Amino acid sequence: MFRSSLSVAIALAGAHPIGAQILRTSAPISDVRYEITADSAAVGRRQLGVTMSFHVNGNAPVVLALPAWSPGHYVLLWFARRVSQFSAESNGTQLPWRKLDYQTWEITPQSAGTVRVSFSYLADAVDRAVAWTAPNFAFFNGTNLFLYPVGRGFNWSAQVIVHTEPSWRIATGMDPATGNNTFAATNYHDLTDMPFYVGRFAIDSTQVAGKWIRLAFYPAASLTPARRDRTFGWIQKIFPAHIAVFGEAPFRNYTIFQRSDTLVNGGGLEHQASQVDEVTTSGLDASYLPNLYSHEGFHAWNVKRLRPADMVPYRYDDAQPTTWLWVSEGVTDYYGALALVRGGIEADTAFYSFVAGEIASIAGAPPTAVSDASLSPWINPTDGSGGLYYPKGGFIGFLLDIMIRDATNNRASLDQVMRALYNDTYKRGRGFTRADWWGAVSRASGGKSFSDFARRYVDGREKLPIDSVLQLAGLQSRSDTLREPRLGVATATDSSGVRLTDISPGGAAAAAGLRAGDRIVSIGDVAIANDDSFAIFRTRYAGTQLTSLPIVIRRGGETTTLELPVRLFTRVQTRVSPIPGASEKAARIRAGILKGSTS
Ligand SMILES: [Zn+2]
Repeated sequence: MFRSSLSVAIALAGAHPIGAQILRTSAPISDVRYEITADSAAVGRRQLGVTMSFHVNGNAPVVLALPAWSPGHYVLLWFARRVSQFSAESNGTQLPWRKLDYQTWEITPQSAGTVRVSFSYLADAVDRAVAWTAPNFAFFNGTNLFLYPVGRGFNWSAQVIVHTEPSWRIATGMDPATGNNTFAATNYHDLTDMPFYVGRFAIDSTQVAGKWIRLAFYPAASLTPARRDRTFGWIQKIFPAHIAVFGEAPFRNYTIFQRSDTLVNGGGLEHQASQVDEVTTSGLDASYLPNLYSHEGFHAWNVKRLRPADMVPYRYDDAQPTTWLWVSEGVTDYYGALALVRGGIEADTAFYSFVAGEIASIAGAPPTAVSDASLSPWINPTDGSGGLYYPKGGFIGFLLDIMIRDATNNRASLDQVMRALYNDTYKRGRGFTRADWWGAVSRASGGKSFSDFARRYVDGREKLPIDSVLQLAGLQSRSDTLREPRLGVATATDSSGVRLTDISPGGAAAAAGLRAGDRIVSIGDVAIANDDSFAIFRTRYAGTQLTSLPIVIRRGGETTTLELPVRLFTRVQTRVSPIPGASEKAARIRAGILKGSTS
């Protein structure tokens, strides 16, 4: 997953009253097939039609469940809550069924034969893990729609057939099978990890390292020739940098699904052969896009294949916490940023800014063990440690990279750790354990022990040894304390400028009488044209002695000037930069990290 600044935590949809563990085991089923209806009539109702058919050997009850979450999106969404008009039949006869809990159905066949289970699925959620429709379009993920037989494991094959308009397109990473609009997967994990776009959207492709990389953009007009060429240019640089870490591109093809809208949260969700990204309409040309594609792309290796043992295999009925999300997400963030430098998309200074941002995020959060923070996305904590496994995990990955290179005179790196774990655990059909991770780090470092580091900085809450490790790579960090003015608002930018979407009670904007819907024209002598204008405003009036500023707004077609009280807040600004005259070894380590090379 990737969090943009606009990312909003998904509301935890209801409590978990009786525990999701179902003790009933389904009768065996075979010849599983899912038919999804996503034609113009269905999407016009914001509903997808779902029919699951399968063969049963007798009249033993079949127990079917829908997932509670989508891997990568570590929050319980309870997909069954969107189901309506559930029914089951066999040979034209309705079959009795009952709910065993909120996400589990028990169907009682009368005899051996084919059973068809049907329901309607509400597809109106603005969320990259949940089905969504527009008048000419549908997006769905298998976790939303594909029932599974409880207690029967996940290693069974199935077909997916999509019923749609003849002129509409279908894009998915799933393998095509014989038959019109028919696809197949050999196990449930793959079935639910191959999202679909159906309808009118733009698609284009390019080859990288012998693999087809596709762009599937909705709405179609969002994929202009300029954006296509620019995005292909990024991909041609990003994916080779990722492949260089692991030594192979493990997917048959790879699709970047991107949906843009004014309502989306912003951010991405990784899959084994795709990423599903949401971009605000105003963010279609945002500078963070290469980082989004890079982060989600790196996940095709790290977490979709190389994964903590706690999440192998995935369970779908309930939360699956791990203390290792700092590796799955944080280290992905680290390599996501590095690939942009290694591929030549961004300058070294952009990576230094990325690292500085991590240091600032860690400093701004309560002292929290990164292994504890890794457990917490499921409960969306309120103590300020939410999502800390991204910056702190990424920064610890950076520290480990430096220490491995320092211990080996730059002959080994974190890249070797990632590749060794990929080969020794994922390729052998298992997840990595604590012993695997620290063993690989220690081996890459020529036998150096990291048990003290793990105890103090990963499982413990001690202050990270930032400066002493950075200087081994010829880098330094400086922090300055600033007193900056804050408005206390949330905004959205469109072609008409910056609009207030939310005003926090007690903030400066509320005190000035601003309201949601107002458009800000200027504050003091700073014109407000887009989100970047606020950084200019904060810098312009940092530490000011003024007690109020004029704020010009447009409200209902009229331009008004209000008096904005100045409220200053403390912010720590961190900078990371090369140490002039660093040792030859430190400079070599720094260059090795930025280039993805060893000595
Ligand atoms: Zn991620």
